[in-house]
Amino acid sequence: MKFADIILPIASPKLYTYNIPEKLQGQIKPGQRVIVEVRKKLYTGIVERIHQQKPEYPTKEISDIIDKEPFIGENQLKFWHWIADYYMCTIGEVYMAALPPSLRLEGEQTVYLHSTDLHGILLTPDEQEVIDLIKKKNYTIDYLRKKTQNPKILRTIKSLVEKGVVRTGQNVENPYRPRTEKYVRLSPEIDSQEKLNKIFTSLSRAKKQSDLLLAYMSLAKFSFGRPAKEVKYKDLLEKVNSPSALKALTDKNILEVYEKQILRIGENLEISSEINPLTPAQQQAYDQISHLFQNKSVVLLHGITGSGKTEIYIRLIQEQIEQGKQVLYLLPEIAITSQIVARLQAVFGDKVGFYHSKLNDLERAEVWQRLNRPLAGHDSYKIIIGVRSAIFLPFRNLGLIIVDEEHENTYKQFEPAPRYNARDAAIMLAQLSDARVLLGTATPSVETYYKAKTGKYGLVELTERFEKIELPQIILADTKAASQKKQMKGIFHPLLLDNIQQALNAGKQVIMFRNRRGFAPYMECQDCGWIPKCKHCDVSLTYHKEDNKLVCHYCGYSIDVPRQCPKCGSFKIQIRSFGTERIEDDLKIFFPQANIHRLDLDSTRGKHSHQRIIEQFQSGKINILVGTQMVTKGLDFHNVSLVGILNADSLINFPDFRAMERAFQLMVQVSGRAGRRGSRGRVIIQTSQPEHPVFHYVMENDYQGIYQWIINERRDFNYPPFTRLIKITVKYKEEAMVDTFSKLLADTLRKYLKHRVLGPEYPPVKKIQNWYRKEILIKLEQGVSLTKVKNIIRTETDRIRRMENFYKIRVIFDVDPM
Ligand code: ADP
Ligand code: ZN
Ligand code: ZN
Repeated sequence: MKFADIILPIASPKLYTYNIPEKLQGQIKPGQRVIVEVRKKLYTGIVERIHQQKPEYPTKEISDIIDKEPFIGENQLKFWHWIADYYMCTIGEVYMAALPPSLRLEGEQTVYLHSTDLHGILLTPDEQEVIDLIKKKNYTIDYLRKKTQNPKILRTIKSLVEKGVVRTGQNVENPYRPRTEKYVRLSPEIDSQEKLNKIFTSLSRAKKQSDLLLAYMSLAKFSFGRPAKEVKYKDLLEKVNSPSALKALTDKNILEVYEKQILRIGENLEISSEINPLTPAQQQAYDQISHLFQNKSVVLLHGITGSGKTEIYIRLIQEQIEQGKQVLYLLPEIAITSQIVARLQAVFGDKVGFYHSKLNDLERAEVWQRLNRPLAGHDSYKIIIGVRSAIFLPFRNLGLIIVDEEHENTYKQFEPAPRYNARDAAIMLAQLSDARVLLGTATPSVETYYKAKTGKYGLVELTERFEKIELPQIILADTKAASQKKQMKGIFHPLLLDNIQQALNAGKQVIMFRNRRGFAPYMECQDCGWIPKCKHCDVSLTYHKEDNKLVCHYCGYSIDVPRQCPKCGSFKIQIRSFGTERIEDDLKIFFPQANIHRLDLDSTRGKHSHQRIIEQFQSGKINILVGTQMVTKGLDFHNVSLVGILNADSLINFPDFRAMERAFQLMVQVSGRAGRRGSRGRVIIQTSQPEHPVFHYVMENDYQGIYQWIINERRDFNYPPFTRLIKITVKYKEEAMVDTFSKLLADTLRKYLKHRVLGPEYPPVKKIQNWYRKEILIKLEQGVSLTKVKNIIRTETDRIRRMENFYKIRVIFDVDPM
């Protein structure tokens, strides 16, 4: 008898063995999706291995197969295992992170009708039976299986999904809306004026058709020998409203209709689709990168802000496409709607696919399907622009991965497992696919720069801005001195206000930056110092002016603003600190004529509000933009002359060994937004510690300097890149249990790992949603076997968790925590 080990979407560390029934003999291959039953529930699993070793337990049969061919490639499976091993999670957790839910149908998913127009769609009797049932009401797959007694129900549903008739998912309220748009272009076969003339002659008696063709020509600003403008299907029909004429023209192979996944940024921005010639400095960087790629699989492009890294990426991408290879372009989440992305799409058109968090499950599934097996008439994507989870997509022919803004911590997944860093995982993925990796940034992470300096990665430095635009002038505004002299105007230093006024007078725009991590606005009793805190978490509540509430940013708990202090009865309850909301309000008082807007998580809840704000700023309707990290990335505004950084203190006082590195990165990145074109920009940083060394490096734009300073500190205090960290978090609802367990675990690990075990200690927020937490930190110097240490940690944790009541305690491993 033959058996198959199956990966299931379950957080259990082992694979499940099923036997292969007679009827499926010879049809099961590794990487294939199959259907199996676990405790009477259906799951889609992935075949890992086929063998003949009968397990000790009785095995069940594989119920059915979903695909005839493997769905997950051999390299992908290897990659999954690497993630599970390295980041200390289970293969099932990797599987769940990798595949969108609709590609791993489960009994609990709901099936609903997607299209009521069944005209011309051929259905099998099994399929018809399902349709008849869900016409009246949505049902789960498990229910449909019981009702129809169809053992192949998942296969039936998969077929219906592929025919476009039904959809499945947990999220039925969010039905599918395609976000592709149809475009029209001239068939490439018509490549000369002569041929075109002939066509017009042939259309002389089809007036509608020739009108439509003419309308296309005019919309496309068409002429031979230069690229035509892209013409939207709907714009064309707006000019000549005759779908039948368009159909006739496409049937005759004169016009072609094609689809493009659209991104709503930049629809109203003019984005050039031409490939620019590189400047000499860019050309040199490009040549160095190509040269280094002959010997190194990873190269770091350290190019200052505005040096034109995007243009270099475009060249590298183009080169890969010419060789028939695919490219993965990774971006941090906050940059996915940036102008860079619009630019790449303008250049590469429908070769580009997107993969990011605003896509719904089905849109994700479509990207998968299209990469896995090009749908009829669709070529597979050549370029995927995506956020961290895009590393799981099924590339078949990957040549290059670009990790833009490689220093960003959004590449790290915090919750749930796998807690991977997409930058580091991308390097492993490239290795498995024989591809290259380009890391790009103006402010490399210390770990990456160290690897580049010590020769592990290639290093290319681009130190010149495009058109030699000067870097901005950076001025420190000493808030301590100013408040001693009673010169502060609320939260603003007079120097900052003066400069804003000047900028506005000159018709320029201003960006005001405030770190999200900085203290959020909270309330405090002026008499006794009482601060309202969350009932469930160990944090103070954040004040939200719009609905006059105090809200917990960890769990969402909210209360009305108290009028009276519950501790001392005082009525003097005041707002402390300042968030973006407060900055916006206060600025409105100082600059009543200016149009001031906010760009942060709260102001961009709506699906397209982010783009709307960006476009309004771009077009000059907004004079001052107040924002968080969102304003730091990928925005290239031509009219910004001033950037204000409001709470630099909170950046440098943050209790973390990476605080200095992050403070530098943030300040340099935000500064890069000032004066990109035209005159020199100016940056004003408000701080009460102007003597702090980090400002010196920011003002001099001295990356090398700050790197030396930080790397020495890291060496002295044994932090990465000189050590590797593993953070173990212990969580439970009872504080005493957390204490006992974490102490026992730390002491046990210390027996093996000695001084390398630190803690347990409380994290800065010790209770979240009523769960207490304690952390143990493992610091491993170079040369220690990671595999061995991870084994010890896993075995000992499991052993202790099996004791007494400890099995309910949650233990989380985080390798390379950020
Ligand atoms: P970076 O990502 O390095 O900060 P960008 O790639 O955003 O810089 O480039 C900054 C600006 O300079 C952009 O507006 C870009 O269009 C322009 N630019 C850069 N290089 C060129 C080039 N070779 N030709 C034309 N424009 C360029
Ligand atoms: Zn009080
Ligand atoms: Zn809370």
